[in-house]
Amino acid sequence: MDLGLKNKVVIITGGTTGIGKAITRAVADEGGIPVFIGRNQENGLLLLNELKKNNKEAYYIQVDLHNTESCKKAVLETINKYGKIDALINNAGKNDSIGLENGSPDAFNVSVSNNLNHYYNMAHFCLEELKKTEGKIVNISSKTALTGQGGTSGYAAAKGAQLALTREWAVELLKYKICVNAIIPAEVMTPLYKSWLSTFENPEEKRKEITKKIPLGNRMTTKEEIASMTIFLISNKANHITGQHMFVDGGYTHLDRSIT
Ligand code: NAP
Repeated sequence: MDLGLKNKVVIITGGTTGIGKAITRAVADEGGIPVFIGRNQENGLLLLNELKKNNKEAYYIQVDLHNTESCKKAVLETINKYGKIDALINNAGKNDSIGLENGSPDAFNVSVSNNLNHYYNMAHFCLEELKKTEGKIVNISSKTALTGQGGTSGYAAAKGAQLALTREWAVELLKYKICVNAIIPAEVMTPLYKSWLSTFENPEEKRKEITKKIPLGNRMTTKEEIASMTIFLISNKANHITGQHMFVDGGYTHLDRSIT
């Protein structure tokens, strides 16, 4: 199936590692132009070199998205370079373990704004270009928005808000034929996931315990499986899908726990 992504300019936040990196590669493999954003320059340049070596067009922007001006600058840099934006993938995030007991009002505030504000800011600054291309937005949320995790109020609140904004923007942008959807991963092995696992006394045991409860195949979802859903949702094959929360999780969030 040709997804029709050739020469489509796709911004991916947090696109240098983990799920974002898999999305960056998938966009490039489809002939699209990933503009991937990350704050670690070494990771960014490594991926850029890999893509260039494989003759893919791609562009890396080093930015910390905590700052509103940086979000604006990244979007303007994309427009200056390519003259358009076809899709925005809001993906950057950090499960920073700011809970009720292990947090404070100030730390909660920082955690919510670090995980949430750049989703809004990037969509806001991309909007004029997305209107012209009848583009797409995909928000990468998390199962923690629906199941909770414990000890991570700020991250969970931001992830829940991303789901609400997905519906809100889907409605607001109907008139521009801009589709807005969310993807909800559950258990995907990435640097973020590894660092969360490392908070347990025996990370390997914890990984096994979780994995055996994942209904479909008793395995974790791969980064590439999240990327496949993402590139489908930004393609013209998904032109009549909007406001949806797509669970790519091997049934982890919804299926009957007694079967595992
Ligand atoms: P990851 O490997 O840590 O990737 C996240 C990327 O986002 C990193 O490159 C990180 O940069 C970047 N980032 C975070 N905050 C940023 C900021 N303010 N400015 C610029 N870059 C920033 O994590 P991942 O597991 O792939 O997570 C990707 C998304 O999936 C996140 O939204 C996460 O909530 C969601 N998710 C993941 C899982 C899972 O099982 N892995 C489950 C549910 C949801 P640094 O390396 O510099 O921090």
